[in-house]
Amino acid sequence: MKKYLLCLLAAASLWAAAPKKPKLVVAIVIDQFRYDYLTRFRSEYHAGLDRLLRQGAVFTNARFIHFPTVTAVGHSTFLSGATPAESGIVGNDWYDREEGKHVTSVSDGKTLLLGGNGGEGASPRRMLVDTVGDELKMADGGKSRVIGISLKDRAAILPAGHMANGAYWFDLKSGNFVSSTYYFSDLPGWVKDFNGARPAEKYRGRSWLDHKLPENLAEMYGNSTKSPLEASPFGNELVEQFAERALAAEQLGRHEETDLLAVSFSSNDKVGHSYGMYSAEEHEVTVRTDQELEKLFQAIQRQVGLENALIVLTGDHGVAPSAEEDAANHMPGGRMSANTVKNAVEAALAKKYGEGEWVSGSWDHAIYLNRDLMARKNLDPAEVDRAAAQAAFAVAHILRVYTREELMTGAATGDPMSRALTISFNMRRSPDVSYLPEPFWIVTSDATTHGTTFGYDTHVPVIFLGPGIRAGRYYGSIAVNDIAPTLAAILEVEPPSGSVGRVLTEMWVP
Ligand SMILES: [Zn+2]
Repeated sequence: MKKYLLCLLAAASLWAAAPKKPKLVVAIVIDQFRYDYLTRFRSEYHAGLDRLLRQGAVFTNARFIHFPTVTAVGHSTFLSGATPAESGIVGNDWYDREEGKHVTSVSDGKTLLLGGNGGEGASPRRMLVDTVGDELKMADGGKSRVIGISLKDRAAILPAGHMANGAYWFDLKSGNFVSSTYYFSDLPGWVKDFNGARPAEKYRGRSWLDHKLPENLAEMYGNSTKSPLEASPFGNELVEQFAERALAAEQLGRHEETDLLAVSFSSNDKVGHSYGMYSAEEHEVTVRTDQELEKLFQAIQRQVGLENALIVLTGDHGVAPSAEEDAANHMPGGRMSANTVKNAVEAALAKKYGEGEWVSGSWDHAIYLNRDLMARKNLDPAEVDRAAAQAAFAVAHILRVYTREELMTGAATGDPMSRALTISFNMRRSPDVSYLPEPFWIVTSDATTHGTTFGYDTHVPVIFLGPGIRAGRYYGSIAVNDIAPTLAAILEVEPPSGSVGRVLTEMWVP
C-alpha cells in the first residue's frame, strides 16, 4: 500500500504543473554568502532568512561549477545560467587583448556615469549572453520592467542584463546611487530625489560592535578596496532602502507583465574580506541581513502581496577561512601575496627569454602574458605559456597550473577542478596561465578571500519562495546555473541563450 502511494506521488510530481506566473520576481544575491551561514546562525534568524528557511524550497547542496568563483562570474551566472566560456565574464577583471588594456567585467568607455561626479560609466556589453530579464522583455515586447541594484556596479548590472530599464550602484566618490548613459540619458526623478536626501550621510559616526564610522564623509566612503561604510552592515541598509524606493517608484509588480527586481547585498563580502568568516563582524552583518531581507519582503507585501511574488536567493561565491583561523583550528592552509606567482613568472621568463615586462595583467589566479613581446622576440606563445606555467608551479603550495593551450585543446585531465576550468575557458578572454592554490591557501593580503573550485568557495544557498513552490529541504546536488532555466520555465519564456542548467521541477507543488 505504502509503495503504491509512493508511486502515485512520484507520478503526480511528474505531471505537476509549473508554478503560476508571478507578478514580480525578486532575485537576491548576498555577496560572499557561504551555505553554512544559514545553519551556523539559524537560531538567530527571526526575520527574512527565517521566513525563507521555513516557507521556502531550500537546496542544501547547490554549487558553482565555474572558475574563478568571484563576484562578476557569480552574478553573471545567477540569471543567465551560463558558464564563463559562453558568457565571456571570465573574472572581475581581465586583460583585453584587442583593447590592449586592463578592463573590468562592466567597464565601458562608451558610457558616462550618471549621478556622480562625471567620468566613465559601466554597462553589460561585455556579457555575451542574455538573462532571464532579457528573455522576459524579448517575449513581451519590452513591457516587463527589469531593475538591478547593488553597492557594486558589476553586481547591479550583470544580473539585470542587456535590456534592463536601469541598473544602480553606489558611488563612493559622491555618496550617490548612480547609473550610466547605457540605460538612459538622465537619472529617473525618483533616483535624484533619493540622492537629494543624502541618505548615506546619516551613517557618519555611527557605531557597530566596537567599530565607529568616521565623521569625515570622504573617510567614511573610502575607496573600493577599503570603505568603512561598505564594510559595515549599513551598506546593506542603504541598498535595502534604495530597493524599496525602486519597488514603489517603478510600480514593480503592478504591470500587466511580470517585472523583475535583482538586488545584491555587498556588505557581507566587504566585511568577510576585512575580518574573516568566523569573526564577530561576519556574524553581525549576517544576522542583520536577516532583518534587511524582512524589510524588503514587507515592502513586497505592500507592493503586490507576497503571494504574487517569486523570491529566489543565493550567494555569488563562498569564502575560505582566514589563514589565522586555519592555524588556530590546526587546519592546513596559509596566505600568499597576489604578486607571488606573478613575480615568479616574470623572473623565470626574464631569465629564459631576456628582460621585459612579461606579465600584462594578473588577477584572481589568472596570468596574462605579453603577446607583443613574444612576437617581437619571435617566440612561440605556447612554449612561453608552458615556461610560465612551470614557474608558477614551482611556487610552494600551488596545486595545479593550466596553460591556455591545455584548456583550448581539452588536454587538461577530467577531474572536477579541470572541468571547472575547461567550461570557464573563453578563447578570447581567458588568461594564458591559470593556477589553483592548495585547499585553504588564500591568495590575498586581506583577512581572507575566495576564487577557487573548492567547497568553501562554491557551496552557496539556493532558496525559492513563492506561489506553487513546495517548502522543504532538497538535498540533491544542483548547480547555481539551474536558477535561470527554472525561472524561465515558471515565466514561460525561453531559457537564456547560454543557460546550461536544468529546471528544478522537484520543488513544484504536486
Ligand atoms: Zn562577491
